[in-house]
Amino acid sequence: MTERKVVLSLVRATGRLHLGNYLGAARDFAELSRDETKECYFGVADLHALTTLPDPQELAASSRAVARDYLAAGIDPERASLFLQSAVPETSELFWLLTNVTAAGELQRSKTFKEMSAKQADNVNAGLLNYPILMAADILGPEADLVPVGEDQLAHLEMARNIAQRFNHRYGELLKTPEGYRKKAIRIPGLDGKGKMSKSDGNGFGIADSPEDIWKVLQPAYTDPARKRRTDPGNPEICPIGQIHRFVSPPADVETIETGCRTAGIGCVDCKKILLGNVTELLAPVRERAQALDDAAVDDALRQGAARARKRIQPTLAKVRKAMGL
Ligand code: SF4
Repeated sequence: MTERKVVLSLVRATGRLHLGNYLGAARDFAELSRDETKECYFGVADLHALTTLPDPQELAASSRAVARDYLAAGIDPERASLFLQSAVPETSELFWLLTNVTAAGELQRSKTFKEMSAKQADNVNAGLLNYPILMAADILGPEADLVPVGEDQLAHLEMARNIAQRFNHRYGELLKTPEGYRKKAIRIPGLDGKGKMSKSDGNGFGIADSPEDIWKVLQPAYTDPARKRRTDPGNPEICPIGQIHRFVSPPADVETIETGCRTAGIGCVDCKKILLGNVTELLAPVRERAQALDDAAVDDALRQGAARARKRIQPTLAKVRKAMGL
């Protein structure tokens, strides 16, 4: 039997999964979790979330909510290991060991560090600086073969590869150098018209939200400002609603709304109602699974997943400790 490829991905434990997370990642992860040729580890990065100093109760609730959304998205917890990053203490120990083979200058030059430092200038903590090393420990610990990454995570993957190579150069070929696994480039625009849908910006809707709750955010969503009146034509390409239609609506609906928008044949409210119908249909299985999940089922999946992740990481940690003289 050929060895299964180890897939690893972590998602920050901030906020629920939104449509962009679902179409760009969670839906594919659900498929990967059923792929016989893969062994999947999906983590909820609650330790990473600490760098932005979330409220403790909110962090605990949000970590479980993300895990629940992953299960609702269709990840099979019997086949894939779903875990909280903080429930795998081996990763934190490996993190510290790897800090010693990481160049401080490389961390200081990191684009993410610069961006985050500017974003939270009153809280430039060492966690922000060392974030890529923890990410490297997340990846190198389970000896991941494939790490699904988006454009914005390529630099972190590269740093994990550099750290592994530096460790191997000093202590022998012990750490596996991971490969990137490019996620489909799906960029779902935010409903505020300012960049992409993002958990921290709160400009989307949760994948398990009810149609009523989705409508509450769709109804006031930003549209092409050229359409001041119902009779003004617009451009669906610069409108987030028009762009989201292209990801979730059948071609006939896309054609109807795009032509209708350009000719003022359809109003924005009707256009949004069509989108609501299609989103509701797309996410119906997710919502059903979410409703069937209770806290005990989520905790159980996390417990099982953490136990498997720990077992997977322990041999790596043992050989790294030994090689470093511990
Ligand atoms: S009709 Fe639809 S695509 Fe056009 S501006 Fe209104 S909401 Fe946007």
